[in-house]
Amino acid sequence: MTAQIMDGKAVGAAIRREVAEGTAELRARGFRAPGLAAVLIGENPASKVYVSSKVKACAEAGIFSDKIERPATVTTEDVLQIVRDLNTREDIDGILVQLPIPKQVDEGAVLRAIDPTKDVDGFHPVNMGNLVLDQRGFEPCTPAGIMELLKRSGVDLKGKNAVVVGRSHIVGKPMALMLLREHATVTICHSRTQDLPGVCRQADVLVAAIGKPALITHDFIKPGAVVVDVGINRVTDPAEAERYFGGDPDRMKQVREKGSTLVGDVLPTAMWEKASLYTPVPGGVGPLTIAMLLSNTLKSAQMRLRA
Ligand code: NDP
Repeated sequence: MTAQIMDGKAVGAAIRREVAEGTAELRARGFRAPGLAAVLIGENPASKVYVSSKVKACAEAGIFSDKIERPATVTTEDVLQIVRDLNTREDIDGILVQLPIPKQVDEGAVLRAIDPTKDVDGFHPVNMGNLVLDQRGFEPCTPAGIMELLKRSGVDLKGKNAVVVGRSHIVGKPMALMLLREHATVTICHSRTQDLPGVCRQADVLVAAIGKPALITHDFIKPGAVVVDVGINRVTDPAEAERYFGGDPDRMKQVREKGSTLVGDVLPTAMWEKASLYTPVPGGVGPLTIAMLLSNTLKSAQMRLRA
């Protein structure tokens, strides 16, 4: 069986183009540009990269962005004050607080302080509640992007067995709810699940959001399954890369020349050999997250401007 790629890069680019068209249309009708505020606390290098990519993606889509940076020493009250100010700003439709934030700051209090109508990351309890109740609201970007990818790849979920490995609030749990809404029969697995390979083998659609390199191997995958790999793990050891990628020359070159390559939570050779459709890492789920953030920001502006 030859597995086909679900091209997150192409779908992400298409969504970004659609958002750019939507913002251009708003402007053409005399409305202001949608606005996104990104709050970045501390010096976490990965967070800095994520926020820069989001700011750049906003510019490309015609969305105004405001990056608000604070040192790692901020207090909960400082961050709450930033959020309260952003809640009242007329030019801001979306507020994102880049996670993780320093330990002394109460993350729950910060996320709860965001106006749910500006919560474009979809992490506020009101928006989580809307998702549970199948009501309109903002949905977490990674699972929402995966749903868009499945839809645009022609995957019919009705009546299918879907297994989600991982129950985090940002990926696993909302993912399961979204698959359920599309009438899949959903099982959620986690670190205490017994016989994980056996449960995964029941899956017509398998979503791995674990954060453990190549944990899902051949004997977890039903032949012909659709496999979505959310994990992003860095591999530096050439022997490990050799094992994961079956000696794929491009990957081996990357490890030799750049010092590392990325692998998901699913063993690549297992996806290639057993799946019908799968998401590569990188280029699968990753590009969809930012695309959905832009899409949520446009949606927020359209609602706020009653456009
Ligand atoms: P979390 O660490 O919050 O959650 C991981 C989940 O995996 C937990 O529910 C945990 O179970 C479960 N788990 C851990 N070990 C096992 C195991 N051995 N067997 C079964 N389940 C296990 O991670 P996230 O959901 O935030 O992220 C998951 C992965 O996705 C990471 O690699 C992350 O980098 C990536 N990611 C990628 C994004 C993208 O845009 N592509 C966006 C967000 C995340 P338990 O609850 O029992 O501890």
